[in-house]
Amino acid sequence: MSQSFSGAQKEYLAGFMAAVAQRGLAPFAGLAANGRFTADEHGAPENLAAAPPAPKEDSIFGTPISELCKQEQWKLERHGLDIWDRLTAHTEENKFPDDQDTFYFRYHGLFYVAPTQNSFMLRCRIPAGEVNAHQLRGLAHIAETWGGGYAHVTTRANLQIREIAPRNLLKVLAHLHGIGLTAKGAGVDNIRNLTVTPTAGFDPEELIDPRALAHALSQFILNSRDMFGLPRKFNIAFDGGGSISCVADTNDIGFVAVRLGDGHALPPGVYFRLELAGITGHKQFAADCGVMVRPEQCLAVAAAVIRAYAETGDRTNRNRARLKYVVDRLGLAEFLRRAEAKLDFVLPRLAREYCEPRPAPRAQGWLGIHAQRDAALRYAGVAVPVGFLTVAQLRGLATLAERFGTAELRLTVWQNLLIPNVPEERIGAFGDELRALGLNHTASPVTGGLVACTGNTGCKWAATATKAHALELGSWLEERVPLDVPVNIHLTGCPHSCAQHFIGDIGLLGTRIGPEKIEGYHVFIGGGSDDRQGLARQIATGVPFAEVKPLLVGILQAYLDRRESGETFRDFAGRLSETELGTFAVPAGK
Ligand code: SF4
Repeated sequence: MSQSFSGAQKEYLAGFMAAVAQRGLAPFAGLAANGRFTADEHGAPENLAAAPPAPKEDSIFGTPISELCKQEQWKLERHGLDIWDRLTAHTEENKFPDDQDTFYFRYHGLFYVAPTQNSFMLRCRIPAGEVNAHQLRGLAHIAETWGGGYAHVTTRANLQIREIAPRNLLKVLAHLHGIGLTAKGAGVDNIRNLTVTPTAGFDPEELIDPRALAHALSQFILNSRDMFGLPRKFNIAFDGGGSISCVADTNDIGFVAVRLGDGHALPPGVYFRLELAGITGHKQFAADCGVMVRPEQCLAVAAAVIRAYAETGDRTNRNRARLKYVVDRLGLAEFLRRAEAKLDFVLPRLAREYCEPRPAPRAQGWLGIHAQRDAALRYAGVAVPVGFLTVAQLRGLATLAERFGTAELRLTVWQNLLIPNVPEERIGAFGDELRALGLNHTASPVTGGLVACTGNTGCKWAATATKAHALELGSWLEERVPLDVPVNIHLTGCPHSCAQHFIGDIGLLGTRIGPEKIEGYHVFIGGGSDDRQGLARQIATGVPFAEVKPLLVGILQAYLDRRESGETFRDFAGRLSETELGTFAVPAGK
């Protein structure tokens, strides 16, 4: 397989080295010939004095250097992986970074999150959301010893630990590596945690278990320098089919498994459809490229797409730097052509209609007790309200996974987790011990579908306290609306849309209202993903949070009163106008 992209790799590296040489930079900046870190202002190596002078003008993939945005200039000055000297200095001096170092530190998964918290957040990489009991205890140790005593499950099936002081940065990274995890590339312009169908490997309905592909791609990324420092962040998901969605259609690359029967030029079997340029915060799902990818080709295809993006992404304007804007500019066919040019095989075209229909994911299938392929075993979907877990719960879950399962856990993009391989006859005892931890595998149709981004307690972009509002809203609706079907509510604190408000049955986008800057939300209704793909429509603007609650009570009650037989909330919302939906608010207090 390495032959598949060695040519492109050589080409890229040649360009990279030429640009480095022209800029007078050493490729491994920061480490002097004597093996010790240099200590000049920007950490530039001592031997740079002998480097040739920079030319008057140069370009990076066709963009003149003078036109690069600030962050691109920083990337040119220093590679974000080459900042160990800066991390060491900040650790030793227990000091917070300036803007430029804040940017570099995110290459190592370390986020300085002032002013909301004057401390660092660690964002791990947990490919496929697979974490074992030993690792969960190790993460608990990090959170307890150097963090705030808790962790959050994220919407990329990942874990974040907050409230880390600068003096502890290196200890945190060392411990993370010690438990077989890393945080490299977890922030800024890098490829984020690779997500996978969370039931992969034990789901009776799956088409293929894509975990090995995700892990191979993850290793390739971590060990390929050109996979870092892209024009902007980049998301990849592998959907192997099965009962729980990983919202592959919201990713820059979605590999979506399909089965192909007889009667085509292609041999029958399981392939992946290649979907590109999803970014629902910008109102776009990934588009099906019309090509079939064999599983063993996925890594090469991903690398080709990423390299084509690196060459064509806008490096002058970060608001238009994501893959969507490349595809808007070039067209999907031309972008695909450029990616394919980096492969030594052709991607066969085939309309999706020729593939067998896929089983639909189960609504809120991430909760509850479910059958596995092995009829004697069950997996438990554990509700984790807004993704928050204490250290005691992390350790307790690790113990449960060992005692009742096979010491394995899966994180999901729905901010919760699964514990697989529990013998059917032990489910009762498992549930008892889970509840003793303050957790459960059941939740109401509302609380089971709450997704909330960090919010203004930990993110400077947030207009609202999304997590606290989500919990309050869940209790409020639970008490007032006898909902009998799952309804997902996504709360996101700013247009970056980490909680993907456009794909919730109900989406809430945080805002501040009036001179008092009251916390409130723009209200969206009727979104979905996968087989129920659709962007939610905005039905109300700038509603104070206190009024959001009765508005949603009214809308959900109207759904129960007026739905047709078997009609989902999304279908109900789809057949009513924005104006009708906006009139359903009930007086506050009811
Ligand atoms: Fe922060 Fe905005 Fe992301 Fe929420 S959506 S975590 S406010 S960047």
